Amino acid sequence: MHFELTADQKELKETIRDFAQREVAPKAQELDREGRFPVELFQRVGEMGVMAIPFPQELGGMGLGVFDAVLAIEELARADQSLAVSTMVSMASGLTVARFGTQDQKERWLPEIISGQKICSIAGTEPGAGSDTGGFATRATQLGNGQWSLTGEKAFITNAGTPISLFTLILAITSDKDAERKKFSLFLTPNDAKGYTRGKGYDKMGWRSSDTRQLYLDDCQLGEESIVGELHGGRHLLHKGYQAARIWLAACSLGLAQASLDHAIGYAKERQAFGRPLERLQLIQQMIAQMAIKVETARLLTYRAAWQIDQGIDDMGALSMAKMGATEIGTEVADLAVQISGGWGFMDDCPASRYLRDNRICTIGDGSSQIQTMLIARSCGLDVNFT
Ligand SMILES: Cc1cc2nc3c(=O)[nH]c(=O)nc-3n(C[C@H](O)[C@H](O)[C@H](O)COP(=O)(O)OP(=O)(O)OC[C@H]3O[C@@H](n4cnc5c(N)ncnc54)[C@H](O)[C@@H]3O)c2cc1C
Repeated sequence: MHFELTADQKELKETIRDFAQREVAPKAQELDREGRFPVELFQRVGEMGVMAIPFPQELGGMGLGVFDAVLAIEELARADQSLAVSTMVSMASGLTVARFGTQDQKERWLPEIISGQKICSIAGTEPGAGSDTGGFATRATQLGNGQWSLTGEKAFITNAGTPISLFTLILAITSDKDAERKKFSLFLTPNDAKGYTRGKGYDKMGWRSSDTRQLYLDDCQLGEESIVGELHGGRHLLHKGYQAARIWLAACSLGLAQASLDHAIGYAKERQAFGRPLERLQLIQQMIAQMAIKVETARLLTYRAAWQIDQGIDDMGALSMAKMGATEIGTEVADLAVQISGGWGFMDDCPASRYLRDNRICTIGDGSSQIQTMLIARSCGLDVNFT
């Protein structure tokens, strides 16, 4: 067992770090204030090859793994978690098409996603149900001639309403109304599909430059060629998509936790109190040492779970520990960075204050900490029931 990144992985991480610190970090505060999705910056991320990392080479990707993508997302999030989350949601949604879609779907829809010139999304959550995926109510009704009509609403969806949004994978019930169990399918819904509209962006606590909207489907008619994967197999695909998103969300919190530590160290060296720099105060040293342990814990959990995915090891416990561990740590470490920043930490122009706001959703989205806790308990062999 060894913990070294390969030479290629080190180079990838350093290249993305240089880019993100040079081009992304200086704009993060302003974008947060304006609450604007940065089209050009997202496309620059694409030009840097980030989006292409986990996609197969025959589709124009780099043919690398989930772990390599973790390294890039960590560095993007260290500069701006909002941009990192927009990137990873498009990556996870696109990868669902790459893994389970038809050749036609891949050729028609993926090139602009992989190059990062367009963005895509995946919509499970509804106003009436989030964690409880069985409670989703959006329905697709078969019309004949292979056509389906989708009606329903989706809530809190990332990336669906930007000027470069291309499609959303929408989960809808495809079983009969009187069927004993609901069965779902995943529909690739082009942004310009008739009957598919998006609400205005939410006003949010964090992730302000990432696009989040409610989606409306009113007799949105799609052909059967829009179904990704098997008919009735959509819930499984949504969970697969969420799994990739979970490890990359862990990477988003890891990068943000590292940024919080970087900020705290910088401020402790610069700020004077009682005639000496904060860094010489033992209680400040203790907080920073605790932050460093937490960041390293998040890194080890995230890297191990990502590595396991690439090895084909199906370890739900490790994935949930990474997701919950890293995202909870992100909030704890950002909070300590605010504490060390003193009164300035409470001000909008202090990066630590943005880190704390941004990370707050990470323990809720993509399977909340409560859901992860139950999955971890189940992986320990306990008899866990979600209801
Ligand atoms: C900014 C943002 C972006 C998002 N992007 C997307 C996206 O792109 N696509 C998408 O599909 N969704 C997205 N979501 C939705 C997100 O995944 C959900 O908010 C999340 O899954 C929680 O669902 P919910 O909000 O309905 O909360 P609920 O499921 O109603 O949960 C409420 C509370 O109850 C707890 N809880 C639920 N069930 C249990 C249980 N069995 N036992 C114990 N506690 C439980 C939860 O942990 C939580 O604390 C986004 C949300 C936000 C805020």
